[in-house]
Amino acid sequence: MIYLKDEAIVLQTVQVGEKDLSITVYLKNLGKENIYIKGGQIIKNPFLTTVQQFNWFKGVLIKYKEKLFIKEIDKSYNLAINISQNLDSFFTASKILETFNKYTTFPDKKMFNLLKKTFYFLPRAKNKELLQTAFLIKYIYLHGIFPTFGKCIKCKTKINSRNFQNFILENKGSLCKRCSRVRKTDLTYEDIVFLSKIFKTKYSKMINLDFSHSKLRLLSKKLNDYLKINFS
Ligand SMILES: [Zn+2]
Repeated sequence: MIYLKDEAIVLQTVQVGEKDLSITVYLKNLGKENIYIKGGQIIKNPFLTTVQQFNWFKGVLIKYKEKLFIKEIDKSYNLAINISQNLDSFFTASKILETFNKYTTFPDKKMFNLLKKTFYFLPRAKNKELLQTAFLIKYIYLHGIFPTFGKCIKCKTKINSRNFQNFILENKGSLCKRCSRVRKTDLTYEDIVFLSKIFKTKYSKMINLDFSHSKLRLLSKKLNDYLKINFS
């Protein structure tokens, strides 16, 4: 039997039979793991409210025969309640989790912190789509696949509004007018400037900002496509 201190974010909660729960968590040190909670569906279970999707907790886990159990919870933050109060934030958080679940396969403390911060600020943000787009670009950076926005991938010339020709997702970078004649582009010059800007902006500075929702939805879709291309 091994005792482990760790922090967790609940990615998924699944009911097992009539009484038990199986949760998938992302742990700060161990990464993605399943935890079995005997009697987790019973109202008087001390862990019941803590182990809901989106929540953060810190505690002691026990590893026994390759399985993880919760020994005690020292501190927790009920993000689930804040997120679920607003339908928009609930759907956005679900989409963020879906992406995170799909592409996070190894333990990474920075990714853990990014997810935790995103869920903390999401209910407070005026524009949920903006936070989702910001999450995606920051997440792409942590994967080490940040696109080459500012330089032409062929000739390395600095890109500006006059020489920018295209940004095609498969290329993972911009091309200048001298290197490409293709006018069709997945991202416009304004898009890459915008994405570079929100990449550097802290969530705390972002929660009062507002931009076109349809534009942000389109950018989020492109960033999800970008992840797909990089991981296929
Ligand atoms: Zn070029």
